[in-house]
Amino acid sequence: MISVEEALDKVLGNVGVLDEEESPLLDSLGQVLAEDVYSPFNVPPRDNSAMDGYAVRSADTRGASRERPRLLRVVDTVAAGTVSGCQVEAGTAVRIMTGAPVPEGADSVVRFEDTDETLRSGPPAEIGIMKEVEPGWDIRRAGEDITKDSLVLSRGLVVSPAEVGVLASLGRQTVKVVRRPKVAILATGNELVSVGQPLADAKIYNSNSYSLAALVSYYGGIPEMLGIARDSEDSLVARLHKGLTADMLLTSGGVSLGDYDVVKDVLAKQGEIGFWTVRMKPGKPLAFGMIRGLSKNGAAREIPHLGLPGNPVSSMVTFELFARPAILKMMGREDLARPLIEAVMEDDVVNSDGRRIFARVVVSKRGGQYFSRLAGLQGSGVLTSMARANGLAIIPEDSEGVAAGDKVRVMMLGWSGEKA
Ligand code: AMP
Ligand code: MG
Repeated sequence: MISVEEALDKVLGNVGVLDEEESPLLDSLGQVLAEDVYSPFNVPPRDNSAMDGYAVRSADTRGASRERPRLLRVVDTVAAGTVSGCQVEAGTAVRIMTGAPVPEGADSVVRFEDTDETLRSGPPAEIGIMKEVEPGWDIRRAGEDITKDSLVLSRGLVVSPAEVGVLASLGRQTVKVVRRPKVAILATGNELVSVGQPLADAKIYNSNSYSLAALVSYYGGIPEMLGIARDSEDSLVARLHKGLTADMLLTSGGVSLGDYDVVKDVLAKQGEIGFWTVRMKPGKPLAFGMIRGLSKNGAAREIPHLGLPGNPVSSMVTFELFARPAILKMMGREDLARPLIEAVMEDDVVNSDGRRIFARVVVSKRGGQYFSRLAGLQGSGVLTSMARANGLAIIPEDSEGVAAGDKVRVMMLGWSGEKA
């Protein structure tokens, strides 16, 4: 048996960062930036008003108060998106809306609330300023967000919604990012029926292809469904060949020691493959290897293949532990580990055979402390417990288990807002 860490090291040692692509802006969400982004201009482009009010010369407001307003002649009104043709000279003001460029001559803005505008009808010819202002007040400076020619976003950054917005403010329609991996997904088993088909006696629906494809999309990859291979060499080879242009292949099932577990034999012929018994529960049997694939121009190339166990929970948990970091690495991400928290366990979990148990738990926070309770039956076929869980509590392989009240580390699958 090998440890979870050894298995992960081997997987990560065989996958590399993918090439770059020019991606439409909105599609780049979650991808890693493959260029340094400089700004060709200032954002905002001009000094502009932070408030609806009056652009004035601050010197004209000296001594102004509610009791003794200073009267200024209003020479123009300017809205966002237009430039006033008027200069603000001594004794005058320009009525200005938020975002509008500050007219020449003005050095500050007095907001409506500090004028007597509400006492006047229509756009007034004269305005009473009721507060003293200093130069620069309520003016947003040109380039205050982004200065022309400055480095705005650096290569290696993960594009989040804020980065998408920043790129749009620079007028970018596309951006260079590390491309997303195409991940081919193949289920195996004579007992499997595709969703949409009637369920005959002793058959079950192929759920793994769906949970795995959903995980691939969730973490930013592009799933490619290869359907169901039967437990025969011919069926498996035929299906596999449809996935040879992918960046990674995931199979589920067929890697244990049963009579019909042909994945290991067939894949051994298609490339190099290692079979591991990983010291973990669920998900003990796991296969990993490189299979001979094809690049776009038909040249030979090696594709990493992860043979996940067939049990629905095991295939999801092994995906989380091994496929997720591999996909993130291919996407150029550096933060491959899930966040871990410490929680008080509320149930007993017995560890009888020296494997690291990843128990499906529901984590909640009470009085500043995290608590985790089992999310239902822990059999590796009980997929609804995976649906209920928001974390995997880690019971160390060298322990006999944990008792209610013990502290455990929990690998969080979703943070608050999702399920916590
Ligand atoms: P195997 O690893 O092929 O022996 O499969 C282990 C268990 O997982 C068996 O009970 C299978 O029926 C079940 N199983 C395998 N593949 C799938 C699948 N794609 N969807 C749902 N259950 C599956
Ligand atoms: Mg099977």
